[in-house]
Parts: sequence; C-alpha cells; structure tokens
Amino acid sequence: MVKTAVILAAGLGSRLKERTVDKPKGFVEIGGVPIVERSVRQLIESGVERIVIGTGYRHEAYDDLAKRYKELVCVLNDRYADSGSMETLYRLKHELKEDFLLLESDLLYDPACLGNLIADPRPDIILGSGKTDSGDEVYIESNNKGFVQNMSKKAQELHSLDAELVGICKISLDTYQMMCSLAEAEMKNTPKWDYEYAIVAAGKRKAIPVKKIERLAWCEIDTEEHLRRAEEHIYPRIEGKQITAKLSVERNILLNPGPATTTDSVKWAQVVPDICPRERSFGKLMEWISEQLTLFVAPKDRYETVLFGGSGTAAVESVITSVVGEGKLLIISNGAYGERMAEIANVYEVDHEVLTSPPISPLSIESIEDAIRSSKSKITHVAVVHNETTSGILNDIQAVAELCETYKVDLIVDAMSSYGAIPIDMQASGISYVIASSNKNLQGMAGIGFVIAEREKLLALQNHKPRSYYLDLYKQYEYLKRTHQLRFTPPVQTLYALEQAIIETQIEGIEQRYRRYSESWQTLIDGLKELNLECLVPLEYHSKIITAIKEPEHENYDFEEMHDFLYERGITIYPGKIGKTASFRIANIGAITKKDMERFLGIMKEYLDRL
Ligand SMILES: *Cc1c(COP(=O)(O)O)cnc(C)c1O
Repeated sequence: MVKTAVILAAGLGSRLKERTVDKPKGFVEIGGVPIVERSVRQLIESGVERIVIGTGYRHEAYDDLAKRYKELVCVLNDRYADSGSMETLYRLKHELKEDFLLLESDLLYDPACLGNLIADPRPDIILGSGKTDSGDEVYIESNNKGFVQNMSKKAQELHSLDAELVGICKISLDTYQMMCSLAEAEMKNTPKWDYEYAIVAAGKRKAIPVKKIERLAWCEIDTEEHLRRAEEHIYPRIEGKQITAKLSVERNILLNPGPATTTDSVKWAQVVPDICPRERSFGKLMEWISEQLTLFVAPKDRYETVLFGGSGTAAVESVITSVVGEGKLLIISNGAYGERMAEIANVYEVDHEVLTSPPISPLSIESIEDAIRSSKSKITHVAVVHNETTSGILNDIQAVAELCETYKVDLIVDAMSSYGAIPIDMQASGISYVIASSNKNLQGMAGIGFVIAEREKLLALQNHKPRSYYLDLYKQYEYLKRTHQLRFTPPVQTLYALEQAIIETQIEGIEQRYRRYSESWQTLIDGLKELNLECLVPLEYHSKIITAIKEPEHENYDFEEMHDFLYERGITIYPGKIGKTASFRIANIGAITKKDMERFLGIMKEYLDRL
C-alpha cells in the first residue's frame, strides 16, 4: 500500500495574476479552503502518512502549512523560476525511498480516485480522464494495451488523443529512479523539463499503464477561467451536495443483499426531464451503459452487454431459456440461487441436470467433472453461481471455467452478488456469459438485469428457436444494436441512476470497492465474535459480501423482533435460508462503510443485552 505522496508546488502560477502575488497558486481558495490543503486532507483520509512537498515560489506558505499537518515535509527548489517540475521532483531524492502518489498542487479532484490508484495492484499508473474542454489539456497517447506512448499539450504532436492527464500518478521507486537518471542527462540542455516528459521517457523503457476514468470530476486551476469552471461545475460535483443539501433524503443502512444503500448522487440522478426512450440521446445513454458494463469484466471488442428491464432473475431466465439449443445444461447448485436456475430450466423444459453440492463447503470439481463425463446426452453448458448469496460462500469459478475449457462447454456465471466488487476477467477465465443487475455492488437502483456475453456466442443464438418472447436474448441484443432501443419500455429513470452509479464505480474502482467492502466484513466478523455469534460458513470460504449468521440461542430471541428493533434505528437486516440451522444474513455491500457496520454491531449488542 502506498503511504507516501508528493505534491509539486514550486511553480509561479503567474497566469492567476494578483491572486498569486503573495501566495503560491495552491493557496487559491475554493469553498473557503485552499485547494492544496483540501488535497492534503484528502490524501491523509485515503491513508497517506507522509506528504513531501516540492516548494519554490512563496514557499513560506507551505512551511506554515507544514506546521499544521505533521505528515508534511517541504523541500525547496530555489531555482524554481528557471527550472521545470522535474527539477523539483528530482530534488526530493533523499526523501523518497518507496512508491508514491505524485500530484500537482493546483488540482481540485474527486478524492475517490486516490483510493482507486492505491488499491490498483500495478505499481505505476498515470491517471487520465475523458474530455474536459478546459482549454489547457495535456493529452495522453497510449497504445492498444493502454501503456503511455506520449504526452503533450499540442494535439497535433500525438497520433491519438486517448485521455487527458489529470496530474495525479502513482510512481514506483524504480520508475522514479529511472526518471531521475534520465533527467540528469536531459536537464543539462533543457532545465525547464517537466515531469510528464520524464514519465514518457521512462515509458519507453518499461510499460507504464494509463488508467482512464472517463467522467472523473477534476480540474486544474491555472487561470481565472479555470477558477470559474471549478467553482461553478467541478466543486459542486465533488461535494455532490448542491441540491441535496436542500432536499436531503433520509439515509437508511441496508444490510440486506441488495437493493443496496445508494449515494445521494445516484438517488438524484433519477430526477431528470421526462424523455421518450426512443430518442437518440437516450439510445446513446444505453449504448454507453452497455459498453461500460462490459468493460468492468471483459474487452469490448469481443464482448457485449445486453440490458433488460427487470430484476436480476429476468436476466438469468433469459440466459437459461436462450442459450441451450440441442444440448444439455448442467446446473451446479449449492444454495437457493442455483436452485432457482434449476426451477427456471424446469418451467421452460430446458434439458438439464442438477448437481447439488453442500451449501457451506467448497464445490467439488471432481464431482462436476464426473457429472459432465457421465451424462448420457452431451453437456454443452454449465451454470454456476459465483457468490452464492444464500450462504455467502464464494464458488471457485476459475476452477469450473478450466474444467469447461477442457470439455469444450460454455460456462454461465450468475455473478449477481459479486459483479462490481469481486474482480472478474471473462476473457482470461474463459467465461461465456456473466449475469448481473443494477442494484447490488454497482450501487444503482433496482430494475435492470443484464447479460455480458461473447459476441460470437450471441450471434450464434439467432438460429435457436426462442422459448420466451420477452426474454429472448438474441432478439434483445440484435434490436439494441440495430435501433439503440430496448424492445420494450425500459425503466428510464433507473437507467439514469445506473449511469451515475457506473461513474461512481469507475472513480472508486472495483479493487478499492472490494477493499472497502472487505473492511466492513472484517468489522462484522470481529464484532460477531464479541457478541458470541457464529458464522455458518468457515471464514476462508467467505465472499466477504454477505455473511450467514447462526441465530442467538436464547429463549426470548425472535428474528422479527430483532429485525424491527434494528429497523426502527435505520438498519435493515435479512432472514436466512439455509438448511435446518436457524440463521440470518448481513450483507456489507452498497454505499456504506465500516462505521455503519460498527453502528449495527452497537445496536445488536443493545438488543442482545435486552434479551
Ligand atoms: C440477487 C440475486 C439474484 C437476482 O435476484 P433478483 O431479486 O431477481 O434481483 C440472482 N442470483 C443471485 C446469486 C443473487 O444474489
């Protein structure tokens, strides 16, 4: 985990004229706080313990700031007026002994992107965004693998404009040392060399990935025009409270396995002018949503997302009824959701077989292999639930996928309660279909189920005789592609909320989201121990998304009573449904943190003490 950050703050900021006569540009205020101080607070909140600031012009302001934040260290570049940002970074050599986040001092940004960079396992990342039209863009050119090729303010110098440089990067110690040795040679001739050129130069020797967050709220403040844009557009988006301060919605903590607690910004995204979903702009919205949903788990050149108005089960039903042709489906069931797939196959008379596995222990890959080999008619598809929401057990879909590869069988994964939190790579794993919905880890509103599939597989479905009219997967896919519309009226406002939920998922990042969820889960597990409550599933098999808990053995205990006690205090919990052991379930998904879990545990203690 990155614990160090560097802020490059030596520059003159001369384009802000009288605002920077007596202070560096990082001290321009927005919302009553100097932008650099906001950045420092955000870094500390993200877990950064040491912030090295490369100072120059009006460095006293930073020296004063360092007196108020024990995390700050200032290093002066006294040649700031005739050197570039790389000189400032170079001079921090003796302070930097590990990987660090690198930031410019004049940035206003959504702090969620810091957690995203920190959680990303790659040691070097250049953060990019989509088009900002700010008028002072540094463009990034990257190759087809997403590695940096070049950066420039001059669009004509680049072969392609793939992203805009935000001014926040993650730099490994190795890359930093490479940048420094390149700088030693370069700065003799070009003293005003900037750090982005050093990154590009290092990028010629090693692969440095660009991570693009399309709609990240951020801006650099170099001019009066930037400042105005920051105040009017970016600051309200980052605070997200412009409207909601006036019309705040009561916040309930949902600990049921979806619909999950949503942010206010997702709730408010639904309040839009009425629109006919057959309009072009709505088609564009659905196209964008489909593409982004694909990109969370697969490359878009080979995979597609098909949207349905309906809950997650609609999407499951679509796959089960659409993809199995002449062959046979093997359903692996170790809980209610595996069983549900079998019920669907039954209703539609899809040729299938069910392999039942115990709900609280891992799947036996040998039994699955036996079932595939011993089936009288050829198994063409296997369906499995990723995170079995009934028990909270995480099934090893990688192992099942490898088996499917061996037997040339298509794998269908119900990833309803894992998608958006637990990383999935359809292409690397060889998964043909992934099914999920809008209202679980994506933290959107309920009402959209979707299927992500290999395009080739989808196209092959056109020869299948449909079993369902509404849920015909091929027709839905083909119609959306051709007309940019769903075949039937979509949940219009839910799609606007999903757009916002996707943006928020991209800014937080899936790894970071899972880390946040895991923290809440750990808090729950520790708290349960203190309350003498036991989990049903051994800890090592937990998905860390939902936990099944044995009910307290007390004569006065009653689930409904416990539920109501919590509900009156703003917390919703969920009954259990596994076998004979009386249990209840606590999910830790949605826009909640471990603080909410601590609150839940406190109220639980109060309830149990009353018993
Ligand atoms: C939530 C969920 C579903 C779908 O449930 P809906 O109520 O239809 O949204 C399907 N499978 C799993 C594993 C789930 O967790």
